[in-house]
Formats: sequence, C-alpha cells, structure tokens
Amino acid sequence: MKRIVVVGGSLAGVSAVDELRSRGFDGELVLAGAEPHLPYTRPPLSKEALASGVDAPQLALRDPRWYAERDVTLKLGQAATGLDVRDRLVSFADGTTLSYDGLVIATGSAIPRAVAPGTVELRDLDDARRLDGLLATARTVLVIGAGFIGMETAATARNRGLDVTVVDVAAAPMSRALGSHVGEWFRAKHEAHGVRILCSTGVDRFSPNGSGTRAELSTREVLSADVVLVATGARASTGWLAGSGVPVGDGVECEPTLATGVPGVVAAGDVARWHNGLFGEPMRVEHWTNAVEQGGHAAATLLGDARPFESVPYFWTDQFDAKLRCVGRPLPGDDAEVLVETESKLVVAYGREGRISGAVCVNAARQLAALRQAIAERVPFAGLVHS
Ligand code: FAD
Repeated sequence: MKRIVVVGGSLAGVSAVDELRSRGFDGELVLAGAEPHLPYTRPPLSKEALASGVDAPQLALRDPRWYAERDVTLKLGQAATGLDVRDRLVSFADGTTLSYDGLVIATGSAIPRAVAPGTVELRDLDDARRLDGLLATARTVLVIGAGFIGMETAATARNRGLDVTVVDVAAAPMSRALGSHVGEWFRAKHEAHGVRILCSTGVDRFSPNGSGTRAELSTREVLSADVVLVATGARASTGWLAGSGVPVGDGVECEPTLATGVPGVVAAGDVARWHNGLFGEPMRVEHWTNAVEQGGHAAATLLGDARPFESVPYFWTDQFDAKLRCVGRPLPGDDAEVLVETESKLVVAYGREGRISGAVCVNAARQLAALRQAIAERVPFAGLVHS
C-alpha cells in the first residue's frame, strides 16, 4: 500500500495512525477530519473542561510535533462527502478527492442539531466553548435527556452554581443503558446536590422567552430556562458512505476483524458495528476506550494482521463525587443483582442468558478488576452472585 487515508480526525483515527506507523507502514498517511481543530479528547467537554475552561491545546490528543515526527499529513476542516470504492477515491466538501490504497473509516458519531430554536447541543469543542460562554451568564439550565452526557453536564452546571433541571421520557436517569437501580441511585445523588430530575416526562413544545426558552412539558408544567441543552443521544456518522457499497446499518457493519468486506477498507470506534465473539453478539460501542482499542486493531487488520476484535467494553462517567465505571455490555432486560450499596458506593452485576454480561462499580475501583475478569471468562451469573 502506498497511501492510507484515515477519515475521522479524532480518537479512533489517531489511534489507527499511531498503530500504522508503529507497525512500520512507511507509505503516505493522511488523517482527514471535518473539524478544524487538532484531534482532541471529548470526555472533559462535559466535565473538567466545562467546569474550568475549554482550552483546545490542553484537550489535544497529541501536539503538532507528534504528527510531523510520524510524517502524517493532516487534512483538517474538510468533511468527506463521498466514497468511490471501485476507483478507491474519497471526495471532500471542498471539491478535492484523495485516492487511497487503504482506508480507515473513523467518523464516530454525531448528534441531532438545532432541535428547536434556543436549544444547544454538546458533542464537540465548539459546542463546549459555546455552552461554557452561555453558562457564564445563565442562572437556570434545562437539560433534555438524562443519559450520560446530560447527567454529567447537569452536575457540572450545578457545581457552577446554576439552577438545573433534567427532563427525560425514561423512568430513571441512564436507565436505558444501566437499568433502573443504578438510575435511581444517580437520581438521588443529583437531587441531594439540588438538581431537579423529572423522569417519565417529555417536552411538548419549546418557545422563545425573552433571552431564554420556555419548555412546555408533557406533565403540563411550563419551565423557563436561560440555557436549554438537548442531550438525547448520538448516531453513527455514516452519511458520507451512502451508496458507496460499504455496508451501513446502525453504523458501518464490520466483520469480526473490523474489515468491512470492501477490499482495503476497515472501520473503528463509535462508527463501527461488529460481532464481538466474546459475547456472541453484534455491538456498536460509543465509548472512549473502545475507540482507542479499535483504531489500533483496525490498522493491524488493514496491514494484513487480521484477527477478531474481542473485547470487554469499558466506560466511565463522573458526576459530583460519584465515579461510575462500567465493564461488559449490560442491556435493557438483563438480570441485575446489587452486590454493594451505600450512599457513596454501588456495585451491580448484570446477567444475560445465564452468564455475567456486565457490571457497574461506583466509587468501587477495587471490585472492578475481578468483575471484569469474570466477564472475560463469561462465568455463570448465578455462581457469581451467590459466591
Ligand atoms: P468521534 O470522537 O466522534 O470522532 C469522529 C470524528 O470524525 C469527529 O471529529 C468528526 O468531526 C469527524 N467526522 C465525522 N464525519 C466526518 C466526515 N464525513 N468527514 C471527515 N470527518 C468526519 N466516553 C467514555 O468512555 N467516558 C466518558 O466519560 C465520555 N464522555 C464523553 C463526553 C462527551 C461530551 C462526549 C461527546 C463523548 C464522551 N465519551 C465518553 C465518548 C467518547 O468521547 C467517544 O466514544 C469517542 O470520542 C469516540 O471516538 P471516535 O474517534 O470513534 O469518534
């Protein structure tokens, strides 16, 4: 291969570039991304950076020298708009095209934009800067969506001294991913810090209200807020692949090795859906560690070292003094067993089809490793819970 193009200038893309050079690929290497910024890390955007200043150089995954030393050409600020797999060409918004011998798809996920007038979103650095500025002069914040990003942002805004309300149609915060027990524990945590959490509640209408926004809730309550953040989840960024022949469903449909079935094309990170042999299930994981691991793995596959990517997914979320770490892949409907519960600590194990499928440890780092091991070994759920 003479030229490898990595589309998506973020975590999975940088990880792929790193692995390609580490493995001795000495051809031309282009990292192309839609955003104008040097690749950066997103988790602080709803946490530390939103609390204490959104500083681009501090968030950068690597400094400019790192790319220069590896002879990586950065093509930033241009979205890929199309892919021709027969002639091996990527086209970009500025009308240019790039030919490739190998292609890594790492375009991650994106969120719905401008859901209603007066609402804002949080996915990238520019969003975080804008939100930071709005919070600086706001008194009241309404967060639509009690998922991880909504809840983290609620905690950060509350720590900044603002009045915060969170609204979600689900019965408990984060319950779609982690079930109601963990959700209720976090609801209590937020309420103890003065955040108002309204679950089983939708928004019927938004309307302008002076410099803020009015939200009419499904419960007939009407709320006014200086800032309304919509945090209702992301979708895989696959629009540019339409009609290309790369298989797309809920993300890029990959083989277990992260190859796409199209010669010379692999995918990694939030955008990739693959069959995780460890669980015997297809999955798409929208978390940091997976993007790092898959970026490297997809690069190896592209260079001919194709092995199935089998992993125990992992993620964390920080809200107030609660650090949640989740291993495995709990799904709605899994059995859930509470192993430890206090005001400051929570450990829950999940089981599916008789095997342990995941675990949540809040402020319980010590238990995490053993539970991770149990998931990797797919031990029977009943045995684990009763041991
Ligand atoms: P992304 O980071 O989404 O990057 C994809 C890149 O591709 C973007 O820069 C995008 O602009 C670019 N792109 C998209 N389309 C095109 C195109 N057509 N052409 C060119 N470029 C394109 N995970 C955790 O585990 N723990 C956390 O605490 C946590 N907190 C988070 C907080 C926030 C606010 C956000 C937004 C995410 C958080 N995550 C967290 C998730 C984690 O950041 C993502 O899983 C990770 O960034 C995925 O990396 P990626 O490279 O696959 O995709």
